[in-house]
Amino acid sequence: MSGGEGGASVSGELCLEARGLSTGYGALRVLWDVDLTVARGSATVLLGANGAGKTTLLRALIGLRPLWAGSISYEGHAIERWSPERRIAAGVSYVSEMGIFGGLSVEDNLRVVATGLSRSTMRGQLERTYAQFPLLRERRREPAGALSGGQRKLLGLAKGLMRSPQLLLMDEPSAGLSPLAVSEMVTTLAQVVADGSVTLLLAEQNAQVLELATTVTILGGGRVSFSGPVGEFRSTADVAEQFFGLAHPPASTITPEGE
Ligand code: ATP
Repeated sequence: MSGGEGGASVSGELCLEARGLSTGYGALRVLWDVDLTVARGSATVLLGANGAGKTTLLRALIGLRPLWAGSISYEGHAIERWSPERRIAAGVSYVSEMGIFGGLSVEDNLRVVATGLSRSTMRGQLERTYAQFPLLRERRREPAGALSGGQRKLLGLAKGLMRSPQLLLMDEPSAGLSPLAVSEMVTTLAQVVADGSVTLLLAEQNAQVLELATTVTILGGGRVSFSGPVGEFRSTADVAEQFFGLAHPPASTITPEGE
């Protein structure tokens, strides 16, 4: 298995390296000895069907899901015992469905993730965000709950970028979006990656996001079945076969907690 060797823009140096990750919920083991590498500057897509364990893996990486076993190295630091706050302060950002406060304005949603920054830094970050996502400037006074699904995803992405992270973990940006909105999101994410300041790890079940991938990791039934450059993935595997073959995880996924 190879990993962390994406397209031309990828340095090959590791931003993130997880080894032997196992975790789950109560007696349900969800991740089985998962290895994952994310090269600095890459756009790594973690592709897997519904229930494959993608969200659980991202939550383990940001520190919201306790590990049963395994290690996580981020920019050379062993972070598996770090709190989520410390990981965020070190430059890891996590974008999920849950991150939007519908009753707050678009701008307050952005401000809330930048709490603690000085006024001038906050102002600068907001300006940078509005320059990158002009639509959010137009809608900045409106409640986030009034945005369309695609616009809410955009706001989630902008929130994730507010603290200028080095590593952005993003959970299913395509979920609930129309094919057109997915295309727009893929284009936006590709621009973010092309800017070169952030490394992206994207969990998805929609193979459309492979358009922006430099590296692909396939997760099925909580196990990694492939990891490598997207070109290798495309040349060695039929995407549909690889992907839809994952819809049926191994029959035995139940073990005692902590095993
Ligand atoms: P989806 O695309 O549906 O979000 P996923 O690949 O992100 O899928 P997870 O959400 O990580 O998968 O779920 C993996 C397994 O863990 C599933 O069997 C799910 O039912 C189970 N699971 C997830 N969250 C919990 C929880 N809080 N309590 C118990 N089981 C959970």
